[in-house]
Amino acid sequence: EAFNANVAAAADLNAFVIATPEKAIEAAEKVDADRAAGKPLGSMAGVPIGMKDLFATRGVQTTAASHILESFVPEYESTVSQKLWDAGAGMLGKLNMDQFAMGSSNETSYFSNVISPWRRNDGGNAPLAPGGSSGGSSAAVAARLCPAATGTDTGGSIRQPAAFTGITGIKPTYGRCSRWGIVAFASSLDQAGPMARDVTDCAIMLGAMAGFDPKDSTSLDLPVPDWAGSLDSDLRGKKVGIPREYRMDGMDAEIARSWDDGVAWLKDAGAEVVEISLPHTKYALPAYYIIAPAEASSNLARYDGVRYGLRDLPQGANLQDMYAATRAAGFGDEVKRRILIGTYVLSAGFYDAYYTQAMKVRTLIRNDFEKAFEECDVILAPTAPSAAFALGEKVDDPISMYLNDVFAVPASLAGLPAMSVPAGLSSAGLPLGLQIIGKAFDEQGVLNAGLAIE
Ligand code: GLN
Repeated sequence: EAFNANVAAAADLNAFVIATPEKAIEAAEKVDADRAAGKPLGSMAGVPIGMKDLFATRGVQTTAASHILESFVPEYESTVSQKLWDAGAGMLGKLNMDQFAMGSSNETSYFSNVISPWRRNDGGNAPLAPGGSSGGSSAAVAARLCPAATGTDTGGSIRQPAAFTGITGIKPTYGRCSRWGIVAFASSLDQAGPMARDVTDCAIMLGAMAGFDPKDSTSLDLPVPDWAGSLDSDLRGKKVGIPREYRMDGMDAEIARSWDDGVAWLKDAGAEVVEISLPHTKYALPAYYIIAPAEASSNLARYDGVRYGLRDLPQGANLQDMYAATRAAGFGDEVKRRILIGTYVLSAGFYDAYYTQAMKVRTLIRNDFEKAFEECDVILAPTAPSAAFALGEKVDDPISMYLNDVFAVPASLAGLPAMSVPAGLSSAGLPLGLQIIGKAFDEQGVLNAGLAIE
């Protein structure tokens, strides 16, 4: 009964692209069998999780919320999802998302938008965006349809939806989680991570997802620390950096207040708070919106009507016609916009002016962080410049949509671990998130600071 009620609630939110309850039940039954046989249980034993529909799942439709991959059923399993099954988790279903993970509101999905379970308490009853691109994941966890879900984060897609829905999500250091079997968006930025109710659940789930994978050439060959077993909210002796440049002109007063609250909570936990400088912050967003589309335009060239999913072969068409017809019908507007931007900035005449320039900026951003971390252990900042906005509010204005990623993309460009934790409510009763950015490989420091805040 409870299960059917959850399925109905899931339908209302449009959080799932496809439900696979039989797989979750199978995992639960395996727990019973293993327990009866006296076998040890994995860290995720029996936990029914949602899987962002960007992870290839063997025998189960993997769409990236696109029309072009609508009929794609992989014959292989992504490394990260396989690790979760090996740890005992079961799959409740594949979660809706922005198409090819491009978006900040889940409104670019071919399967229509996800609706946040939250509502404003000040009379404005418009349905709200769950954030994006992992909007199915955030809505499903926030609505308690599942205790945890996978997300991916290229430029904020775990952290911003977590902030919009009052849950916790961590993007680990680039390379911690294998990208093998995850539909590629921007390969030098893409990272998988957990989205769950709290820091402890994220630590447990990240432990199951991370680890070296020879099938991903950028995978980190490092042991996976026992993050969950080493959680400690005592921050005595730790320094927290507050980046001056993130306090932007016209910053929303409620965001500024929640940031101040975070500073106070971390001081209560024993941390020393210092001001730091990340001087190139204002160039991060424009650099991201050159680099990410450039890589996307290259990655998405493989969807040509020959190898995967949709094929549109008009009568009498030649190969070029088939490519054009398939891609015209198969990609949504935002995906096409990214491909156009990407091919433009990579084209011979503009490569130096845009792509090379953006890559130089990326180095400056990385250096900014390296210098800042000489003076502090973690950095505290807002996750997003606003609480959740209404569905439809930004959908016709890509620039204002992109601006919502302003605090998320610097850590992505630098490849650093970053987490969003819930940090109180706005005056309209909507969740606000605070972001903790850590040194490369220091997920523990990030999780511990998050624990002190939650
Ligand atoms: N919102 C950002 C974009 O649209 C980030 C997306 C992501 O992290 N996948 O590119």
